[in-house]
Amino acid sequence: MTVRWGLIGASTIARQFMISAIRAQADGEIAAVMSSSPERAAAYAGENSIPLAVSTLDGLLSSGIDAVYISTTNELHFEQALAAIRAGKHVLCEKPLALTSADAREMVAAAKAAGMVLGTNHHLRNAGSHRAMREAIAAGRIGKPIAARVFHSVYLPENLQGWRITKPEAGGGVVLDITVHDADTLRFVLSDDPVEISAFTQSAGMAAGGLEDGAMCIWRFRSGVVAQSHEGFTTKFAGTGFEVHGSEGSLIAKDVMTQRPIGSVLLRAAEGEEELSFDREDLYARSLRQFHAAIRGEGQPSATGEDGVWSLTSAEAALQSAKSGKSVAIDPKLGSAT
Ligand code: NDP
Repeated sequence: MTVRWGLIGASTIARQFMISAIRAQADGEIAAVMSSSPERAAAYAGENSIPLAVSTLDGLLSSGIDAVYISTTNELHFEQALAAIRAGKHVLCEKPLALTSADAREMVAAAKAAGMVLGTNHHLRNAGSHRAMREAIAAGRIGKPIAARVFHSVYLPENLQGWRITKPEAGGGVVLDITVHDADTLRFVLSDDPVEISAFTQSAGMAAGGLEDGAMCIWRFRSGVVAQSHEGFTTKFAGTGFEVHGSEGSLIAKDVMTQRPIGSVLLRAAEGEEELSFDREDLYARSLRQFHAAIRGEGQPSATGEDGVWSLTSAEAALQSAKSGKSVAIDPKLGSAT
């Protein structure tokens, strides 16, 4: 059975990655796109060979689609997801799922009650590099994990220097944009959950309106692992990476906090150094493949709605910590609390 997708949002991420990821599925088709502007909808549909362009959510939801991919600005995800779920559509939603973890929990509950699949588009879990690290840790290759370091400070490309750095009301800022990904990738690679976070944020010259464009976070995990992460929009030459250091070895990954299946993972232990090999499948195509399987009742999306609640609760706690100057406990069932 073909999954007929409706795109909610004439966005850059859909154009650059998700349209091709959907079309890479033998059973995937893009039936319609919705933009708030009829002109933009029509232009986007034309440029991307999408048969139907609409400018209302009702128009999209009544167009015979099975699933929606939501990639509008962050403040819109919640209402759009709830409407799609109510209309009996499966939902793959961009991160952050909503502006508050309470809303994200409501989305998860609504999807569950309606029997619809809800996924969060945390692409990094789909990277062969991160899966190789998770497997190496689970196989005991670094012994007991002790600490992790995430290097995820980039330069926001000029074409994306819009709402992310100017509009708090749209869910701008580097924490909702990148810290959520780091929360999810740390949870995935470590197979562990964060329980506490302490964060410093900064405005290093790009963001306006009181938004942060840089953050450094210290995390404590349930197992006792501590982690540090650095997220930024303003560093042009930093490079990205992810390291996990254990009692018997270290995993050192370079160029892996990215949208493309690139980078390297080095395992360093008493026996010497080994470059881990891993698959180079497109991250977003894998995400879609898992999502289609979940629709068929086979497993779950690679990142579920609950995973999206975890990452948003963590980001919320980071922002709360930066504001209060205190470390903040992370509990996705209760929301974060000091
Ligand atoms: P964009 O700024 O490209 O698109 C967001 C919205 O902005 C669109 O829905 C569109 O509204 C509007 N818009 C786009 N272009 C124009 C324009 N030229 N003029 C006026 N309005 C415009 O955002 P991104 O694609 O960067 O991000 C969208 C979502 O995806 C966010 O939630 C973000 O966090 C997430 N994201 C996730 C990534 C991942 O790897 N998981 C990577 C990048 C983003 P309309 O639909 O009404 O036309």
